[in-house]
Amino acid sequence: MLRDMSPDPFSKEVLGPLKAELRQGCDNRTVKGGLDRFMLERLDAALSRVPPATNADAEYRAFLNDLRDGFGRYLAFSREEREALLKKAFAGMEFWSVRPSEAPLPASPESAIKDLRANPMDWVPRAKQMAFRRLGLKTLEDVLRFTPKWVVDTTRLSPLQRIPPSDEPPFLLARINGVSILQRGPRSVLKVVLQDESGHLTWTWFNRPFLKREMQVGRWVLVHDKPEGGRFGLSLVGKTGSYEFLDDGDLDKLKAGKPLVFYPSTPTLDQAFWRGFLPKVVGGACPLIRDFRPAGDGTRLAEAIREVHQPQSLPAFEAARRRLASDELLVLQLFLLLKKRSLEKTAKGREYRFGGERVVAFRKAIPFALTGAQKRVIKEIREDLARPHPMNRLLQGDVGSGKTVVAAISFLYAADSGIQSAFLAPTEILAQQHYDTLTKMVGPVGLRVALLSGDQKAAEKRKTLAELESGQVDVVVGTHALLEDAVKFHRLGLVVLDERHKFGVMQRAALEKKGHHPDVLSMTATPFPRALVLTEYGDTELSLLDEKPKGRKPVTTVWKTQSRKEDAYQAVRERVLKGEQAFLVYPVVEESKTFLKSAMEMHRLFQKQVFHGFRVGVLHGRMKKEEKTTVMEAFRKKDIQILVSTTVVEVGVDVPNATIMVVENAERFGLAQLHQLRGRIGRGEAGGACFLLSSDRIGGDGVARMKAMVATDDGFKLSELDLKLRGPGDIFGVEQSGRREGGLVDLRHDGELVEKARAEAQAVLDQDPTLSKKESAGLREVFLRRYHGELDLATLS
Ligand code: ADP
Ligand code: MG
Repeated sequence: MLRDMSPDPFSKEVLGPLKAELRQGCDNRTVKGGLDRFMLERLDAALSRVPPATNADAEYRAFLNDLRDGFGRYLAFSREEREALLKKAFAGMEFWSVRPSEAPLPASPESAIKDLRANPMDWVPRAKQMAFRRLGLKTLEDVLRFTPKWVVDTTRLSPLQRIPPSDEPPFLLARINGVSILQRGPRSVLKVVLQDESGHLTWTWFNRPFLKREMQVGRWVLVHDKPEGGRFGLSLVGKTGSYEFLDDGDLDKLKAGKPLVFYPSTPTLDQAFWRGFLPKVVGGACPLIRDFRPAGDGTRLAEAIREVHQPQSLPAFEAARRRLASDELLVLQLFLLLKKRSLEKTAKGREYRFGGERVVAFRKAIPFALTGAQKRVIKEIREDLARPHPMNRLLQGDVGSGKTVVAAISFLYAADSGIQSAFLAPTEILAQQHYDTLTKMVGPVGLRVALLSGDQKAAEKRKTLAELESGQVDVVVGTHALLEDAVKFHRLGLVVLDERHKFGVMQRAALEKKGHHPDVLSMTATPFPRALVLTEYGDTELSLLDEKPKGRKPVTTVWKTQSRKEDAYQAVRERVLKGEQAFLVYPVVEESKTFLKSAMEMHRLFQKQVFHGFRVGVLHGRMKKEEKTTVMEAFRKKDIQILVSTTVVEVGVDVPNATIMVVENAERFGLAQLHQLRGRIGRGEAGGACFLLSSDRIGGDGVARMKAMVATDDGFKLSELDLKLRGPGDIFGVEQSGRREGGLVDLRHDGELVEKARAEAQAVLDQDPTLSKKESAGLREVFLRRYHGELDLATLS
């Protein structure tokens, strides 16, 4: 049944290693190079194939993203966490491997057109139905709106040797002029020489020897990727999904000035299939689909659909794409607004008491006055809690804005009302830190805080679990260990998610199921740009902590190239001699032995040479949990003066005495991540200093990022810029829905479309809250088809 899905994450090729991994105790050795890397590659490939255009497959995409998230942190996972992840993969596999329908095949797409409305999937050859389903294409309309990933004409092509500096990857059209392969045991390097009129460029593929078959000399290929500067000048590194082959017909079309379209393809549904299939379907079926939005922006639906599949010109394509994108966004905004309304009609059945003595005592006990913004947000939360329906609020606050206190006060409200809370953190380090902070903050006023972690001793864990279930614990802090079935609550009513975007949809849903419509407060230090908030958090109330606690001195940021690193190290020594502490951050990909070796070497180098006589510690994701805790504890107690670490310190680690940070190879980080890192040293009274060390041969947008970091400390400005420079995927750390380059909706450029769609959805619902009027019939149909099962319109009246 999985036969025709070969590169799919759920194919046999993947199933085997996953099973073996589970059997062998999750040691990440089932596949050469690590199961995690193996899975990440498959998942990336799968994600790149899920069309960004439709929301129909949002769940599937979210699930893949979830897994991707998990395997991204696989190395840092405990054995239990690894097992849980593998089991999740299996469960998803069962769920998503839908069987194709057994309906009889129509004679041809043309003859099936008349039955399309009744049985939209019947006209798809049976062998291909599952592949359609995987792409999220369930209905005729989904197929018609299945948009090309690339649309290219000669004006979009860059000569190999004259690629203009730009943030966007160029389109390179070239002939394959030579192929050679170097094989060393399991490793291989495939070198493909690309040639055009301007010169040539090497295209290097690592460990993909099988590609040699298709890389034939003389073939024309279109590569959509940015060359990278290396020791021997610019070259391209091969990536799945970054290229397409062209045939003579394509070349003629280009010469004639016509645009070429390329669809997201799979082995079953390849370019040739789409290009043969879609024109037929479009020709026959366009008149059948209803334009639910005849007013639109002037472009008629049938025309827009025809234009995206057979564009006359790039501008015409763009106009048509915007028309389809705004449809998509309108339906999404309707869904988000309706979901919000539906929550507002849900009775949570809890009452909070706010005047409790413990809150008063707590506010007296904290050694600082709350900022105006903190007070405002606390009031917003209190009002939410007091409502009969569950809270769903996102608290955005730049790093160091004091979100934890806000969470603590919410926990006090809950505890005073006999309601249990859960505090979910994305990493063990952070969970431990939140536990320590909370114990110190609310312990003295009598709140019972407990920690649940992946690798606690069994007896300890059992005790905590029992106390949770009997209601003796007020607040439980933990990572996704809290999601396990064994975790039962007496009366869970409040859930706080720290760094919410680090959690998958399924994880959030699982926790929410443990209580009766719990109140949910999500927190994030990643300032999302507005377009992203409206799409990703469009059903959520927003709070903003836009004021830093008083007395904070700003962090001075300095950018130096590698050859001037001694300046940074000298600054570190001076600070440490004054009794302050330092972070040294490395962007290593934490892979296997090489990584451990380099971490140990780094540590030795710093301890023995660069910082001789200082106490240097090391922290990375491959360490056992106890080791990590010990190191963090030592750093907190100043036993360690200089902490050399990977990005495990990125989120939330709070050591106010650490005032200086050196980020090595800073150009490898995105702006959002650099800003998070820098946030670690803006905490104390002393002004912080952040040194960004970049390579001497840093490229164009690397320079832009370094300059932006030096110029501003404003997380929102940085994230808007990040969105422009790198796309939203990097803000979330994973490629997210609907925003791949060339996808239907591209948040980098479509911010204005999002705003319009929001306003339009609002207007529609003001007129017709349940989409039941006659004018809304088309919209209702589309809406129900897409969100069937997720929302019951009837309950909204
Ligand atoms: P973040 O929003 O990044 O999670 P934290 O909650 O960790 O920030 O707070 C950062 C630091 O600021 C903590 O040491 C905290 O005790 C302190 N802090 C929080 N609120 C205030 C305030 N109103 N005045 C002074 N310090 C504060
Ligand atoms: Mg925090």
